[in-house]
Amino acid sequence: MPVRVRFAPSPTGLLHVGALRDALFKFLFARHEGGANLLRIEDTDRTRYNPDSEEEFITTLKWVGIDFDEGPHLGGPYAPYRQSERKEAGIYAKWIEVLLERGHAYKAFDTSEELDQMREFQQINKMATGYFGGDWRDASLEKLKEAEGKPFVIRQRIPRDTTIAINDLVRGRIEWDSNLIDDPVLIKADGMPTYHFAAMVDDYLMGITHIIRGEEWISSAPKHAALFDAFGWERPIFVHCPVIVGTDGKKLSKRHGATRVLDYAAQGFLPSGLKNFIALIGWSAGEDREVLTEEELIAAFELDRLQPSPGRFDLEKLRWLNGSHIRMLSPEALLAELLSFIGQSYTRAYWDSFEDESPMPNKPPLDGKELMRKLDRIAAFPDRDYLLDAVKLEQERVQTLADFGEALEFFLVDEPTMDPKAASKWFGQGHVPALFAMILDKCDSVPSDLSEASAFWDEALRTFQVSQGLEKLGPVVHPTRVALTGKTFGPGLFELMALLGPERIRTRLQKLAD
Ligand code: GLU
Repeated sequence: MPVRVRFAPSPTGLLHVGALRDALFKFLFARHEGGANLLRIEDTDRTRYNPDSEEEFITTLKWVGIDFDEGPHLGGPYAPYRQSERKEAGIYAKWIEVLLERGHAYKAFDTSEELDQMREFQQINKMATGYFGGDWRDASLEKLKEAEGKPFVIRQRIPRDTTIAINDLVRGRIEWDSNLIDDPVLIKADGMPTYHFAAMVDDYLMGITHIIRGEEWISSAPKHAALFDAFGWERPIFVHCPVIVGTDGKKLSKRHGATRVLDYAAQGFLPSGLKNFIALIGWSAGEDREVLTEEELIAAFELDRLQPSPGRFDLEKLRWLNGSHIRMLSPEALLAELLSFIGQSYTRAYWDSFEDESPMPNKPPLDGKELMRKLDRIAAFPDRDYLLDAVKLEQERVQTLADFGEALEFFLVDEPTMDPKAASKWFGQGHVPALFAMILDKCDSVPSDLSEASAFWDEALRTFQVSQGLEKLGPVVHPTRVALTGKTFGPGLFELMALLGPERIRTRLQKLAD
């Protein structure tokens, strides 16, 4: 049977990291198996419905590069793919009738006060909470007749005095005492199906072969398995993925960093880097492989490599992996990515309203508006060849596209911002005036070819070192770097001098002399 999986988010807000991993695993598995990946919108809970959510999901998934074969935005043989529309089409009403007829579901007329009382009683008596039958599971025909016309819900009649078991692909066999499983609502008083009912009916009707989802759904699995059994349908394979935890071992939440996926786009992560990172949370590619392209992820995506232990979300690892993906791109492709990133409205919205709540120790707080101005300067810079060469020099060093704002700054401005500490450390040394004079002098004879110019500066600075009797090149390189870039770190000095060219070098050294 061809593999069919579905990403079935409830449109209640933004698309977060946990849901992204859910979507990514299904996408990779479907592609690995040559199967179909479906998007289904589970919008039956109208109280939590958010009208912007579906668009956020689709935009985000498109940015990450997770595509679908069927869905509300694409259509397909099982349309509609929004559950509210499927409800309108009468799909769930038809199947609940089947369950009622066969006695696997029943109407319950409890008022909300009665349900509250029941819960309170259970809590006081330290009993399992939930609806285990109440007054209605075994109500007589007479009692039911009397209740006619009153509001009711339809509940699943979970089999009693038996064991419900599933064979989870990650965790193996899991068993439940059926007497501890409550009877969930399948149809609410307003006629809307609940998640438990709509998702399972749709999984059957849409031919879903594997229910891949987060571990938080394990406790619902016996209800879902029992529902499939009640209909006499063959159960899909259950695959419950491990929880995601932060580096502190606690369940992932806001305090571990941004969890909205589009924020990662705005922070300058590449879709390929983010996918690589997310795929390794709770799954491994084997042989300690860490840096993988999308093709490699798809090729390696066997479900038996999912791990039952929690998956760690480590932002440092994301940055490192993203850096590796940045280095996989050709400089031309990287520049194109960078310019497109700067032009996105989510990038601007994010940095314009950015507030650095927790600057890292020893790191100055990041000014989002200032960073955006630096990025804008890159996009507005007219000399694309120069920009491309500058990107080439920084490609080895950056971890995100946003890092280019700072990294390229000194290439583009007339007067780079000077690190005062570095200036006072290096400029006062006795040999420095002669060094700058030598460089100024050499500016007249720099070759135009970049690699020749780089060799030229290499030679000039080394000759100066020897002429001054200096033991090391450091005292020559450091003041020069600070004078030209304002910083103590950056790409190779000779290459960057070659790229800056004699005009910029001259201007910068002369400004310093003033
Ligand atoms: N609509 C559910 C959610 O929002 C889907 C859970 C599942 O994949 O079965 O998480």
